[in-house]
Parts: sequence; structure tokens; C-alpha cells
Amino acid sequence: MTNIIKAQKGTKDILPAEISKWYNLEKKAEEVFSFAGFKEIRTPIFEATELFARGVGDTTDIVNKEMYSFEKSERSLTLRPENTAGVVRSFIENGMHRLTAPVKLWYKGPMFRYERPQAGRQRQFHQVGVEMFGIKEPSADAEVILLAVNYLKSIGLCDLDVEINSLGCPNCRETFSKKLKDAIRPYLANMCPDCQERFEKNPLRLLDCKVPECNEVLNSEEIQNVITSEYICDECSEHFNKVKEYLDALNIKYSVNRLLVRGLDYYNRTVFEIKSNNLGSQNAVCGGGRYDSLVRHLGGVDTPAVGFAMGMERLNSLLPDVEDNKLDIFVVSSSSTEAFKVVNELRAAGFSADFDLSCKKFGKQIEKASKVASHAVIVCEDEIANNTVSIKDFSTSEQKTVSRNDYINCLK
Ligand code: ATP
Ligand code: MG
Repeated sequence: MTNIIKAQKGTKDILPAEISKWYNLEKKAEEVFSFAGFKEIRTPIFEATELFARGVGDTTDIVNKEMYSFEKSERSLTLRPENTAGVVRSFIENGMHRLTAPVKLWYKGPMFRYERPQAGRQRQFHQVGVEMFGIKEPSADAEVILLAVNYLKSIGLCDLDVEINSLGCPNCRETFSKKLKDAIRPYLANMCPDCQERFEKNPLRLLDCKVPECNEVLNSEEIQNVITSEYICDECSEHFNKVKEYLDALNIKYSVNRLLVRGLDYYNRTVFEIKSNNLGSQNAVCGGGRYDSLVRHLGGVDTPAVGFAMGMERLNSLLPDVEDNKLDIFVVSSSSTEAFKVVNELRAAGFSADFDLSCKKFGKQIEKASKVASHAVIVCEDEIANNTVSIKDFSTSEQKTVSRNDYINCLK
């Protein structure tokens, strides 16, 4: 016997039994985001590797360890690990800076990261997200956080924790990095190899390391003093305060987490994450922030931007299963030709309808109908002879016979 080929580690089929849940996430995204003036964008699933190296940052885990890259015609290509870089590439390539700001875009689709699969972590997973271009004011940050919260509410997730932080501008970041490095340097030998490597290249990333030994170092009083000190400049501080004021005015509960730095290199000022206590260790459903330098960094006209991405598998795992809808009608007939005709008429009239393709006995057909549909339309010898159909309502077990010319109206 030939070997059975299985789905790859870290990938999953989305089976018909789960698809209603996915439709719901997608439908709500379309509703909530378009209500706020966002338009969907669909970018390619693979891009030049260089886009991610430059756009996500070559000190990040994504670029260093997690990319699915391959060569074709001597070009290095990569399956997108996230979609901000792709959307920014498209923004630049299509001259969207010429549109009236803000340019508001949303997307959904699969992302690929070579990570260790575990609960809440796959190698192919799905994200839904938004990007807003052209507004540097804190209102844009608040609008994007509001949108994330409203989307989560719309799918039934109301009690999630919103955490925010400000990374400041490149100047603030440099001052802070220096202070942080000075404080950590004496303890660096006790920290994990990843942190030792990040220490020079991207010291802020040490703050979100999850290794216990590293946490111990970060929790020391001396380093906590550096972390909690006011390190952002007056202008950045004012920007952050305004974001918080808006969130307060909108009744969005949040907490400030000074350790929140996010995994991507390009963030500045506001960063945020939305977490659930019901998810175990992979508890973040949403991550986002401001990335004012990315468009310029990728060769476009200097354009401020802010956005977020949510993990759809993690959202789904927090939501109850939905029961599959029954069909409106199952057609039961002694003639497959008549059944075909009636089913076709019903579908054209807007009913979901099906029939028995394998010509089983009447009893079997009715049994199937009662399981899969709310009503049966019966077209057997008597009905065919009299130009009628019989309609059976399974909720009441009532059955009535009506003219074949008028049965669609009766059903409506
Ligand atoms: P994490 O710290 O969990 O690795 P991240 O910072 O790498 O998250 P982002 O790049 O911000 O994640 O992606 C946004 C969201 O996408 C995450 O909050 C999470 O819900 C989801 N996500 C990220 N990686 C995966 C994955 N491998 N499998 C499933 N969902 C993921
Ligand atoms: Mg990650």
C-alpha cells in the first residue's frame, strides 16, 4: 500500500464543520472595517525576500528564524510572514500617497512562519488586520485601537486586556537603549543566547524575552528603575497622553505595560497588544502600533502609519462552536428528473435546497430530509399526476398539498 500523505506539521485543514466560524470572522471584519471607511486590499502571498528583511527588520525572530524562503530563477522569494510589509510595498508601488489621507486599508489571509507548532502557534496561520496611512496625530492611533476593540466586540469577545506603551521616537529610543544596556551589561552573561545576540543590535527586544532567567534579570530593582523611568521626550509624551485621553473618552479600558516592545523593528511611539486570559501561554490575539518610518525606509514618500494584525486561529479558539444551518428544503421525489427541476426552481427563488442524487426509496429520502432540512417538498407519482407538490414542515409535522404553479409563493 502506498504511504498516506499527511498535512505538514504546523498546518491544518479548515474543515466544513468549522467553516461557519471562519465565515463569521471574515464577514464581521468586512462589516466593521468598511463601516469605518477601510477598504480591503489583497496582496500576493509571496514577495521578494528583501522586502521582509528590510520591512520587518533583520534583528527580528521573523526574519532571522521564521521565514519560508526559496529560490526561483535566481531570485529569493518568501512566503509572507506578516502583511504590513506587503501592504506598504503596494502603497508605494501604486502611488497611494497621492490619495487624500488617511488611506485606510484592511486585509485577511494566510501567513507563514517556521515556528515550533504548539497550541495557538502554527506554521501556516491566518491574520486579519488594518493599516492606516498619512496621519501622524494620536487620533489615528486611537482610531485603530478602537477599531480592534470594536471588531473583537462584534465577534463576541468583550473582556480582553488592552495593553499599550510608547516606544518614543528614534531619539528617545536611542537614549533609552543606552540606559538599558548600561543597566543590563553586568548581568548579560546570565541571559539567554538570543538576548545576548540582541543586546547590541536591538536591546529593546530584551524586554519581551520570555525566558525565566532573563525575566529575573529584568525584575531586579535597578533595571526596573530604568524601565519605569520617564524616557520619552516631551513631544512623544504628549502624543502618548493624547492617545490615552482618547481611549478614556471612548471608555476603552487599557493598561500601560512598559515591557511591551513588540517583535518588529519598525515600530515607534504607540505600540499595543490585546490579550486573553483564556488562551494559555500564547495569549496575544492582536498586536499593533505606529510605524512612521517604514514607508520611507522601503523607498516611498515619507508617510506616517499605524495598524494592527490579529491571529484568526486564536480568535476562533476563544469562540463557541456554531451549529451548522439546516437547508431550507430537501426535495423528495420518485423521479430524479422532477427532483432536479424542482430543486433548480427553488435555488433560483432563493431557497437553499438539495435532493437525493442516488435515487433511494421514499422512506430513506424523507428520513434524510428531516435531518438536513427544515422542510421537504415532495414530488411523487400523485403529485406529478395532479401537477401539485406536497410541503412538509418538520417543525410541526404538518403537510399540505399545493399547486405546482404556486408552490414557491406558498413556501415564501
Ligand atoms: P507571538 O508573541 O505570539 O509570537 P507575534 O508578536 O509574533 O506574536 P505578530 O507578528 O504581532 O505576533 O502577529 C499578530 C498576531 O498574529 C498575534 O498576536 C497572534 O494572535 C497571531 N500569530 C502570530 N504568530 C502566530 C502563529 N505562528 N500561529 C498562530 N497565530 C499567530
Ligand atoms: Mg512570534
